[in-house]
Amino acid sequence: MELRCCLLLFGLGLAAAKLTGEIEIDVDEGHDWDILDINEVAGVDLLEGDIQLDEASHRNTIIGERYRWPTPIPYYLEDSLDMNAKGVILKALDQYRLKTCIDFKPWKGEQNYISVYKGDGCFSSVGNQQVGKQRLSIGKNCDRVATVEHEFLHALGLRHEQSRADRDDYVDIMWDRIVPGKEHNFKMNDDTMTSALGVPYDYSSVMHYSKMSFATGSEPTIVTKIPHFMDIIGQRISFSTGDLSKISHLYNCTKSSMFVESCHFEEENICGMIQGAGNKKWERRASVDGGPQTDFSNMGECKGKGYFMHFSTTSAQPADRASLESQWLYSKPGTHCLQFFLHQSGASDDVLNIWVRDYDQANPGSKLKLIRSITGGVRGSWELHAITLNMTRKARVVFEGIRGNGPSTGGFSLDDINLSSMECPQHIWHIRNITGLMATTPSGRKLYSPRFLSPTGYSFQVGVYLNGKSSRPGYMGIYFYLTSGPNDHNLQWPCPWHQATMVLMDQQSDIRQQMNMHRMVTTDPGKKSSDGTEFYWDDPRKVGSKVSVSDGSFYYRGPGLGTSSFLAHNRLKSRNFIKGDDAFFLFSLEDISALLVSQSLARAAVHVDDGLKKSAAQGPPQDTATHAVVVTAAAGCVVTVAVVLILIIRRRRRQQESDRAVIIQDMPGFMEASYNLYYMRL
Ligand SMILES: [Zn+2]
Repeated sequence: MELRCCLLLFGLGLAAAKLTGEIEIDVDEGHDWDILDINEVAGVDLLEGDIQLDEASHRNTIIGERYRWPTPIPYYLEDSLDMNAKGVILKALDQYRLKTCIDFKPWKGEQNYISVYKGDGCFSSVGNQQVGKQRLSIGKNCDRVATVEHEFLHALGLRHEQSRADRDDYVDIMWDRIVPGKEHNFKMNDDTMTSALGVPYDYSSVMHYSKMSFATGSEPTIVTKIPHFMDIIGQRISFSTGDLSKISHLYNCTKSSMFVESCHFEEENICGMIQGAGNKKWERRASVDGGPQTDFSNMGECKGKGYFMHFSTTSAQPADRASLESQWLYSKPGTHCLQFFLHQSGASDDVLNIWVRDYDQANPGSKLKLIRSITGGVRGSWELHAITLNMTRKARVVFEGIRGNGPSTGGFSLDDINLSSMECPQHIWHIRNITGLMATTPSGRKLYSPRFLSPTGYSFQVGVYLNGKSSRPGYMGIYFYLTSGPNDHNLQWPCPWHQATMVLMDQQSDIRQQMNMHRMVTTDPGKKSSDGTEFYWDDPRKVGSKVSVSDGSFYYRGPGLGTSSFLAHNRLKSRNFIKGDDAFFLFSLEDISALLVSQSLARAAVHVDDGLKKSAAQGPPQDTATHAVVVTAAAGCVVTVAVVLILIIRRRRRQQESDRAVIIQDMPGFMEASYNLYYMRL
């Protein structure tokens, strides 16, 4: 255990001898790993590829109250998990909290719980097996949000979509193309034992096999009756609408714990929003002279649909104002993320203020607090905004437009508002004319994002191969790089345990329907170059390359980490990853060093004694064993804890500087012009 802690801390990753900004490591080693491929390489032979056999899996899956979990479901992240996997798992659990009524909580000694560990592959049992500690494996290459969603769907009670009793009506299984001996993986479930829960056969389920599952050659083993779905089956992006419906039926869902409100203004009641203070009004429009010609939700493609809210500053006098207030919103008090699309076509000194109107005991008549002011000017396109705000249990969000003095031929337009208690992405990268860029960018060429700053002060950027690496055309590739920035002399090097989340947004109106594509990578401070002389995540001035910018300035970019198989092009063209001619990437770089500490030490230590008593009295023997291991781990990890404490103290110091860092980012001159796109030929 002690050895494992040390390995966890200092890492073993090796890279090329001399590090530069041109070096990048593909965490997928050039593969588009699916769960079945990972398990095959790992040498595990499980039912349907990733279902752990137990008595109930043979007989039953979905039907039966006893196989359901009480929610919130207790979970435990075992020490064997990679740091990146831990962060990915927590991100996936948040997707459940946003999109379903399933909530999770750290295990505090409850009898039955899901214990996640790093096994040989990605697999789970089906449903709550009532065995106390029920293990679920997130092994090597399983650290993707959709893979974790998939395995947890098994744990919640779902089987694979193509094993449904009615599947022969929707797909043909090509038995002669299946690897001999693997045919049993295509067995159907008996519909007296399992249920499709009234949801039609779902080709886009995250629980569906891909067309090449268990194939001997290059011919598909699953052929969809409707050809369109050949390239849809096997998606590992996110829950489909059908997956969410099944969970909703199975667990009698009424409300998610993180979702608050969504509005695309298609209904005339505008989601209960009202006109607040001000002598002018927001209008519900389908197009505006001098403003957007279509809404954002439908882009004018649906006749008779496609509305947004508009405050015209053309027809207003200086200082005129109009307020659009949401209905009363009830949610857990605390931090929320407000996302919306804004089209600006008014005067440069028009202002859009975002307020929160809190109702609490101290302010029963409500109290307004200003969250953000957005200055006017003509932007000419729908722009995504993501704003962090604090809310009390009952509150309203207020959009207040104020007319400036300058000449205006338009105003402010709002569409696709979403409010949730998810964390906001720290940065948004809007790529315009993506269709044109994809048509003209050869494979092997990369598009770099502007540089951004993490809340802890690290500067980074993301490189995207729109048409794939030369060795992997047909895929979009994505890589994360540390870059030189204004705080580098105050930062710790090598950069310890920062997790980059790179998301391509599915631009659906309702955040619950968005199938965003995530990829996350983590900076392991112990990772070295292949000759062991350099640290991979060291100061980019030391291990990076000088990059010249068109304005004559320069910076340094360190080596990259990412994947050449971020998203296959046929999937990129599905959903709304590209809408109009725009794509939005969402980035965050978070300090996850707190996850170094064993979960039981950090969150459940006070319950260890209770748990021991309980397991001795009634729990299964393995619970006692678990606690014994936890105690041993505690002793073995003393060194780790000491180092972690140092890391945490340093992190706090850096966080004190983070506000300043954010302000520095907004200063002109530090970053390249926001959307100044430039290439680097490999
Ligand atoms: Zn599976």
